[in-house]
Amino acid sequence: MKSPIVVDGISYLHLSDEKLLDLSKNDAEDFNGETITISKQIKEGRGIPSGNDTDITLIAKDSEESNLDTYCEILRTCPCPICNSETDKINATITATTISFLLFTNYQKSLKIACPNCLNKMHNEAMFKTSILGWWGVPWGIVRTLEALILNYKMKFLTTLPEPNELFKNFVASRIDRIEANRNNGDALKAIVQFG
Ligand SMILES: [Zn+2]
Repeated sequence: MKSPIVVDGISYLHLSDEKLLDLSKNDAEDFNGETITISKQIKEGRGIPSGNDTDITLIAKDSEESNLDTYCEILRTCPCPICNSETDKINATITATTISFLLFTNYQKSLKIACPNCLNKMHNEAMFKTSILGWWGVPWGIVRTLEALILNYKMKFLTTLPEPNELFKNFVASRIDRIEANRNNGDALKAIVQFG
């Protein structure tokens, strides 16, 4: 068992049942998953009923979040799949490109994983391509061109965040099993980053 949590200088193990229940009820939202788990273990050990499922819900939520953070960090140890740099941790973005020709307009969005520098370049390329080739379609050329330019502009802000953005977290969340199975296999992790 892990070291007991200390509250106001008193170990959880030595708190009265009443104080323990009071703490777990009133301060549960401030606890992290580990604290609540230990508190629950102690309560069970003492034969104190857990009451409703609040504690259990909080444990599941917290441990899911910390799990996801852990797997994000595992994948972020991989070098950038484009420039191979390990200077800045990889992140995710969505680029949008519009290409038009007369009655034809193609608006394409795609998820990209790379270092902030490369993601930024991808946005610049998508914006350049869109501003040259996007307008020339009727009736959707102008509309889709503006849509693509605005989306790229907004997404550029997400690429420079030091932490994994929501897109990266979603990418990791749907691949947790594969990341876990390959957590010590650098090549397999690189393949996940590169090919999804
Ligand atoms: Zn890069």
